[in-house]
Amino acid sequence: MAGEKHYGLAGVMGWPVAHSRSPKLHGYWIDHHGLYGAYVLLPVAPEKLAIALPGLAALGFAGCNVTIPHKVAAMHLVDRVDPLARRIGAINTIVVEKDGTLSGYNNDAFGYVQSLRDAKPDWRADAGPVVVLGAGGAARAVTASLADEGAREIRLLNRTPQRAADIAQAVGAVVTVLPWEQRNDALADAALLVNTTSQGMSGQPPLDLSLGALPRHALVSDVIYIPLETPLLAAARARGNATVNGLGMLLNQARPAFKAWFGVMPEITPELRRIIEATL
Ligand code: NAP
Repeated sequence: MAGEKHYGLAGVMGWPVAHSRSPKLHGYWIDHHGLYGAYVLLPVAPEKLAIALPGLAALGFAGCNVTIPHKVAAMHLVDRVDPLARRIGAINTIVVEKDGTLSGYNNDAFGYVQSLRDAKPDWRADAGPVVVLGAGGAARAVTASLADEGAREIRLLNRTPQRAADIAQAVGAVVTVLPWEQRNDALADAALLVNTTSQGMSGQPPLDLSLGALPRHALVSDVIYIPLETPLLAAARARGNATVNGLGMLLNQARPAFKAWFGVMPEITPELRRIIEATL
């Protein structure tokens, strides 16, 4: 008897995970490319992660995304970890290999850089000093991606300095840690400012930052996507700086994962952007 027609299966493992936009995003691409498969929610409690991951191969999964709170723990449970993901210290994508072993990747760095390129095709990481505010998970991916793209000076500032120092150690000498109190002055001669803190997110106070010293030609980016325009981006736009919101990072990080699981590098169509924006 012939085997089953190949059914492509992927999903997002998190706890809680019901709010994830990934099923809509990947589901759109599955339909768009006329593929036979599905992308599903995988609610997995932290204490079940170690038994859920080895089950992926037996269940026929091509792989999955991992999200909060599994991004760091999952890195220690897969069979191999991509070097960039190891530097970032977390994975967000797992690929089930032909032999059933698991490979871990972090596509947030790709997503971030691609979001800048989508907004500003001639963007270059070495255009001038970069200021990154925050030192959480998003900052790790953003900082590693900018270093890999050739940034020559990354000024990293975080309320808790030790977390910034940890990133500097992982990413390298291109990162200079400055005290959080110096954030306004650190903007002088910057070519790119990135907010990776949670400040400015819906339900959070705005980021406490004065843009006075920031050159008008600097690009201002916020990895937050709810709201699409944070108070920081509104203030930057009002004084004439170009801005990039966090939606492009969210959409672009999904593309290499989809390619790995379904064999097609998908595009972010205006229709897809509208569909996801309608869920924010
Ligand atoms: P995280 O690991 O919890 O880090 C939070 C960061 O915010 C830390 O640097 C923290 O500083 C800082 N922070 C929190 N409260 C602060 C305050 N009152 N003043 C100054 N700094 C403060 O979170 P994350 O995963 O990096 O996520 C951060 C943001 O990025 C979230 O809004 C998330 O939605 C967004 N994000 C977007 C994408 C995307 O695809 N666009 C991807 C990932 C994350 P301390 O170290 O001092 O606590």
